Amino acid sequence: MKHTAKRKKMVIGNWKMNPQRLEDARKILGGIKRLATNTPAVDVVVCPPFTYISVLAKSSAPVSVGAQDVFWEESGSYTGEVSAAMLKDSGAAYVIVGHSERRAMGETDEMVSKKVDAVLKAEMKAVVCVGEKERDPHGDYLAFLKNQITESLSHVSKKMMSNIVIAYEPIWAIGKSYSNAMTGKDMQEISIFIKKILTDTFGKDEVVKTPVLYGGSVAPINAQDIIDHGAIDGFLVGRQSLEAKSFGEIITIVAQAK
Ligand code: PEP
Repeated sequence: MKHTAKRKKMVIGNWKMNPQRLEDARKILGGIKRLATNTPAVDVVVCPPFTYISVLAKSSAPVSVGAQDVFWEESGSYTGEVSAAMLKDSGAAYVIVGHSERRAMGETDEMVSKKVDAVLKAEMKAVVCVGEKERDPHGDYLAFLKNQITESLSHVSKKMMSNIVIAYEPIWAIGKSYSNAMTGKDMQEISIFIKKILTDTFGKDEVVKTPVLYGGSVAPINAQDIIDHGAIDGFLVGRQSLEAKSFGEIITIVAQAK
């Protein structure tokens, strides 16, 4: 009989280009660590800017450290870029790939798929961000989402799906007021849709191992509804991950969800 791994709940913080000083990054991580110690059932990850990774990763437990981007080539004349091997060597265990803010700067699905491949080859987990810019009454955004998922994962084998995390982040809900976030009920429909795409592409057993997260204006005030009804495994959190107290509250809500 085949056994399928149960997905662990997960909360990932994307610090973006914040905070401005390492000292502050240490303080925020210190606060998150204290709160995450009480919630071992949840994998907590923070993704600071590149320059803080190696310092923070040295004493981040029980929190894992991730990066916000990566370049797909292994080495060479690519000014300003950072390879997956460098991130791994710095202590990163996760890499966010295809965030909408990077896609807005010209990142294509093809580039995302090469980045995902590089992350997996370097034995880290790839947090693959997908999400439509806007919703249309005809539901064309669903076809867009399907294409984005399959193209972004085009180099991933079935076996490697256990190292993929899907973060559904509709662009219209990112960086907005907390009332603009998706409701749990709406997220449930999208979760089912995403899992169907993954099942059709990779098979049921592999998909059971792939967490699906929601991101877009998550805060303690709306986290409960989305985790209770959204059929998700956790959250990718932007602004609120820079506030240890709020981030800790979100982690606790996820830990206590059924
Ligand atoms: C994000 O940018 O990944 C994000 C989810 O941001 P926020 O939580 O601030 O909307």
